[in-house]
Amino acid sequence: MCGALRASDSGQKAVLMGWVNRRRDLGNIIFIDVRDRSGITQVVFNKERDAAIHEKASQLRNEYVIAVTGKVKQRVPDTINKNIATGEIEVAADELRIFNESKQPPFLPGDSILPNEEMRLKYRYIDLRRDAMQQNIELRHKVALAIRDYLSAQGFFEIETPFMTRSTPEGARDYLVPSRVQPGSFYALPQSPQLFKQILMISGFDKYFQIVRCFRDEDLRADRQPEFTQIDLEMSYPQPERVWEVVEGFLTAAFKTAGHEIKTPFPRMSYDEAIRLYGSDKPDMRLPAMTDVREAFTAENLATLAVSPTLPVVAIRIPKVGELSRKERDEIKPLFTAKGGAKLFEDFKRLEKNFLEAAARIREKTGAEADDLLVIVTGDGKPGEHKSEGGVKPEVKQHDHAVHTSAGLLRIALAQKYAAKHGAFLKTGDPRRDFRFLWVTDFPMFEYDEEGHRWAAAHHPFTSPHEHDMDKLESDPAAVRALAYDVVLNGTELGSGSIRIHRQDIQRKIFHALGMTEDEARARFGFFLEALEYGTPPHGGIALGLDRIVMILAGAESLREVIPFPKTARAVDLMVDAPTPVSEAQLKELGIQVKKV
Ligand code: ASP
Repeated sequence: MCGALRASDSGQKAVLMGWVNRRRDLGNIIFIDVRDRSGITQVVFNKERDAAIHEKASQLRNEYVIAVTGKVKQRVPDTINKNIATGEIEVAADELRIFNESKQPPFLPGDSILPNEEMRLKYRYIDLRRDAMQQNIELRHKVALAIRDYLSAQGFFEIETPFMTRSTPEGARDYLVPSRVQPGSFYALPQSPQLFKQILMISGFDKYFQIVRCFRDEDLRADRQPEFTQIDLEMSYPQPERVWEVVEGFLTAAFKTAGHEIKTPFPRMSYDEAIRLYGSDKPDMRLPAMTDVREAFTAENLATLAVSPTLPVVAIRIPKVGELSRKERDEIKPLFTAKGGAKLFEDFKRLEKNFLEAAARIREKTGAEADDLLVIVTGDGKPGEHKSEGGVKPEVKQHDHAVHTSAGLLRIALAQKYAAKHGAFLKTGDPRRDFRFLWVTDFPMFEYDEEGHRWAAAHHPFTSPHEHDMDKLESDPAAVRALAYDVVLNGTELGSGSIRIHRQDIQRKIFHALGMTEDEARARFGFFLEALEYGTPPHGGIALGLDRIVMILAGAESLREVIPFPKTARAVDLMVDAPTPVSEAQLKELGIQVKKV
């Protein structure tokens, strides 16, 4: 192992196999750094000691694959390299074998400046030789192993479910696989093993997990991959808290592997609270929450400002931003996307001039220091239509929702813009501050799909509504809360899950509430509705994104840094060049004709 030799190995014989990482030819002496997964060791070929082997070494070039044997020697003091673990020794070569040559690679694993990402993905095998990538892939292995070990010790079985299956309802488009044997029929690649894991509960495997690939054909936003890996689990008879405990357990194990002791249990917050305090269902709690400061204003103030007295008036505070120039204030405006008539007051100084008392109360309520940035988001004069009567929790009305979520988006945009000033995103080494976990609970059961003019499942249609809200399924869908939960870390959703419906009559009702006819429900999910009729235990579960967890632990900027062979934002694998057209013969066999576009 090239990275394992130390000063204490001096005098020992060493056998090194690996790549030529770097070659320095000083004439009579040639230095070769040999690299493998574990690191590099410097090998010395001395012409005076052995002219033949020195001659052979002069043929070596970058990325040749070689074997060297020789003696480990302490380096003379002024050639010690403190930057690498093997920096105190070198190997004096006695034998050299060249296993293989290499063309000059388009870039070198040791280069300090990275080529562009297209190049890295096309020559992924070379990119993966880089130290950083070797570490990321090792971390991924260790994290997955820690999770497996933890869950197995808790009595979970890892059980495989099919990749060639039928459409599942996670809400994205399916990847389809044509059947040759039954022309015109298609398998769908699973968007998740949702129905299979529920069926495993019906089958008596009361604790299931799987680290599993899922496939979703979505327009790729920056941080998505068409195939990605979930830590998927399901258990019978759990309260939500039991599922959370299991997740906290395996996350603790995973983070420990990467050297971080996280604190459990994670705090919990209802969806409504998250919207009210953070304007988001995935709050980033590293920065202060928002404050409703409507009461700081008199009715007259609000009228002068043309602000609705019934809508929230939300103050966003970003610490330590300091005084902003007019130009800087102007830069804030484009960061604001007004939903449903929300409006922005970005000039707090001016507000202060005209409404001295209100501004003083806002400072007090928000706890703002003199150098904190304060901006106010509120609604215009006309509150929107309010469709719902309210569910199990104090509920955020739809028209308030627009104000809160507009403010929440601005809060995050400001947090990113002024990251250097507030410093809240910098790692401190204290896991309690660096990793702000949170459970968000009591999600709405349905979301109104404006395009389709219908209610859609906010999570998926197998999620159980709150017992108290069952009677509102038809009359007031917006008010129905679900037994659904998300686990959030630093403003990123790591995973989501729910307690499921285990009764066939309720499952039918939900399909109905989603506008599915009996026939449609039977055509899509008939097998599942039938299975529910054969003694289904109450059950629930969750799925977390493994790629994202590893990305956060690796401190990487993109999922592509922790997936060995990822796809580009256009869903292309640049290394193998997929997808590609296929031959006429292959299409014919499948009974498929491709239209010219
Ligand atoms: N199948 C769900 C998803 O992938 C997770 C769950 O409900 O367990 O989002």
